Amino acid sequence: MALIVQKFGGTSVGDVDRIRNVARRVVACQEEGHQVVVCVSAMAGETNSLDALARAICDDASPEPREFDALVSTGEQKTIALLAMAIQQMGHPARSFTGAQMGMETDSSHTRARILSIDTDRLRSFLERGFVCVIAGFQGVDAEGSITTLGRGGSDTSAVAVAAALGADVCEIYTDVDGVYTADPRVAEDARKLSKISFEEMLELASLGAKVLQTRSVKFAMRYGVPIHVRSSFVSDEGTWIVPEEDVMERLVVSGVTCNANEAKIRVGHVPDQPGIAARLFTPLGEAGIVVDMIVQNFASDGTTDMTFTVPRADYRRALEIAERVGGELNSASVEGDDSIAKVSIVGLGMKDHAGVATKMFDVLARENINIQMISTSEIKISVVIDEAFADGAVKALHEALVRESA
Ligand code: ADP
Ligand code: ASP
Ligand code: MG
Repeated sequence: MALIVQKFGGTSVGDVDRIRNVARRVVACQEEGHQVVVCVSAMAGETNSLDALARAICDDASPEPREFDALVSTGEQKTIALLAMAIQQMGHPARSFTGAQMGMETDSSHTRARILSIDTDRLRSFLERGFVCVIAGFQGVDAEGSITTLGRGGSDTSAVAVAAALGADVCEIYTDVDGVYTADPRVAEDARKLSKISFEEMLELASLGAKVLQTRSVKFAMRYGVPIHVRSSFVSDEGTWIVPEEDVMERLVVSGVTCNANEAKIRVGHVPDQPGIAARLFTPLGEAGIVVDMIVQNFASDGTTDMTFTVPRADYRRALEIAERVGGELNSASVEGDDSIAKVSIVGLGMKDHAGVATKMFDVLARENINIQMISTSEIKISVVIDEAFADGAVKALHEALVRESA
C-alpha cells in the first residue's frame, strides 16, 4: 500500500464531467489499495474571474491583500466540496479540507504566503479510516486565522508540501499536458516529452517561465526528496518524472527552452560611475517589495554608467516611479522603461561541460534577425531579453536548433 498525493489543475476540474473523471481516477487508485490525498485547484477560469471581480469593486486599484485572499481562495473551496460529493456518489468515503481545516499554516504575506507547517494528524486519521482526503490547493491560514494564498499556480506547492509532510511515496501532478516538454508544446509543435528531468533543470525551467509547475513546488520536492510525476488528467500514459540529477540517464546539453513575458525593463542612463550608486537605486526598490531580476551595468568613457534591470510587469509602474525619483536625485540624463519585453531562456545540465552553447544561441537569434537587449547566464542556463513580439519565434528557432540537435 502506498500513500499517494494527486493534484488536479483547473482544466482537469473545469466542469462537472471533468470532476467526475477525477473522482473515477481517485477511486481507481484507492481500489488498488492505496491511501489517497487529492489536492485541487479552482475550476478553470475561476481564479481569474474572482480577481476581475475584486478589481472591478476597487475601480481597478489594487484590492486590500487580506480581503483579496479571502475572495480568491473561494475557488478552491468550491472544487473540494464538489469533488468530495462526486467520490461519495461512487460509494467511497471522502472528506473535504480547506487550508485551515488541514492545518496549512503560512506566514502573513498575503497573495504570496510561504508555508510554515502542516499539521498532518487530522489528514492521517481520516486516511486511516479509509477516507479520500480532498484538500484545497493554493490556500493556507496565518497565525491570526486569516486566509492566505500562495501565489498563482500555488496548488502545485500545496500538493508537494503535503506530500512532503505526510512522507508520501509520490506526488502526481495531473494537468492538461501529458508531461514536461522540451518547450511549451503550445508554442513549439515539435517539442518532445521528457521521460525524466532533474530537479535542478525543472527548477530553472519553472522559474524562467514554464508554468507547468510552480517554482516553489520544485524547491519543496528537491529539499524533501519528494518524487514528482507530471502527467495527463485525460490519458493514462506515463508522464515525466522529476528526479535527482544522478538518475537522469539522458543528459541533454539543452533540455528545454522557455519564455517569460511577465517582466518589464527599466534603464537609468548616465548616472555617476561611483561606489554606492547601485545601492541608492536598488535599496528603495527592495524596500517597496519589488524583486529585481536581471541587472546589466554599462560603462561610458565619460565617467558615467547605465543601469538596466528587469522587474515583474505587475510592479512596472511603481518601479518606474522609484527609478525616476532616484534617477533625478542622481542627475540621470534619462530614465526609460519598456513593458513589452520577453525573457527567453535555454536550460540544460549538459551546458556545464559543453562550451559554445551561448554562441550557438546568439547565432540562431542573429539568423532570425532578433535583437538581444540583455543577457544573463548561470551554470545550467542562458537567458536573453528580447522584444516580446519575437518571443514565440525565438522559442521555436532555439528549440529547433539547440534541443533537437542535442537530443
Ligand atoms: P494546471 O491548471 O493543471 O496547473 P497550468 O496551465 O498551470 O496547468 O500548466 C500547464 C501548462 O503549462 C500547459 O498547458 C503548457 O501550455 C504550459 N507549459 C509551459 N511550458 C511547458 C513545458 N516545458 N512542458 C509542458 N507544459 C508547459
Ligand atoms: N487557482 C490558483 C490559480 O489559478 C492556483 C492554482 O491553480 O494552482 O493560480
Ligand atoms: Mg498550474
